[in-house]
Amino acid sequence: SEGASRASCFLGRAAQGQELMAGLGARSVLVTGANRGIGLELVRQLLSSPDPPQHLFVCSRQPDGQRGQELRTLISNHPNVTMVKLDVTDPTTIKEAATYVEGHLKGTGLNVLINNAAIFTDLSLEAAHPEDMLNEYKTNVIGPLLVSQAFLPLLKMAAKGGSQKGLSCSRAAIINISSSMGSVELVSHTYIKPAVPYRCSKAALNMLTKCQSLSYKEDGILCSAVHPGWVKTDMGTQAASQCPHQIIWLQCWQVAQNTAYAITGGTRPQADLTVDDSVRGILSVLSKLDDRHSGILVNWKGEKLPW
Ligand code: NDP
Repeated sequence: SEGASRASCFLGRAAQGQELMAGLGARSVLVTGANRGIGLELVRQLLSSPDPPQHLFVCSRQPDGQRGQELRTLISNHPNVTMVKLDVTDPTTIKEAATYVEGHLKGTGLNVLINNAAIFTDLSLEAAHPEDMLNEYKTNVIGPLLVSQAFLPLLKMAAKGGSQKGLSCSRAAIINISSSMGSVELVSHTYIKPAVPYRCSKAALNMLTKCQSLSYKEDGILCSAVHPGWVKTDMGTQAASQCPHQIIWLQCWQVAQNTAYAITGGTRPQADLTVDDSVRGILSVLSKLDDRHSGILVNWKGEKLPW
């Protein structure tokens, strides 16, 4: 397919789910939206990787509430993990989180910031109201922008601190979890489902990633956008449940993942990737990123996707 031919695998067999768990080689990592879905699994796998971070900051907008329960249980026996309150739509909690993390790191800097938190609003061109667009932008674009701004001094500190020269996640990186639905070039393959607020927000996040990569290259900070696949999380399931019945569905996420079109007439499409496989892939890809991969959109399998 056209979409498939445009996804070039540049990281070899980076991540097919069977690979041994990869370590990032990062001393410190921060994950936003860590209380469920891909964020929670990132925490789980980072903790059980061969070289877990010495400092893992796991962020949630309600760390003490019911929503944070699973995360609290997961990290309960891990002294290297710190739970941090961070709502990406609230500049005050972002600033407080950065100050708190800075105090914890004691002058060593933050190696990896993973902007994972997001919302998904599936509305058509006709149904999307200004409020829907603004809400989506607030969380999915302005959130990562403000979080990156707040943690930039710590990322710069990490980049300067070590002896490494090139770009890598073991030195300093901003990883924006994006989506192939934000790819303008792939949109003719993915437009069966409009999700206009979400698409526009992820396209903007892709642009933000590119700008960050150019601006922070000289500072030694790698900046890449990662598409996790269509994953069985609350969001992935929500995406499926909002699809109309009885359509001929081109599994657009799969196109972007370089697999053949799967045409499933009359059935409701389902997220096809377990969160375990997606995150195993993402971590494997992250561990291999270098100067050549800053400012690109890459999927969980290590394939470069078009913007
Ligand atoms: P989920 O809906 O399962 O989880 C979303 C996470 O983001 C939750 O932890 C949620 O916290 C958090 N979050 C939402 N709003 C805020 C906020 N204002 N401040 C802080 N945290 C917030 O989504 P996934 O795990 O599936 O998605 C993770 C990332 O992967 C997202 O960026 C998404 O766009 C991307 N993605 C996912 C795909 C999929 O198929 N699942 C496909 C392509 C991309 P709370 O519990 O408080 O709401």
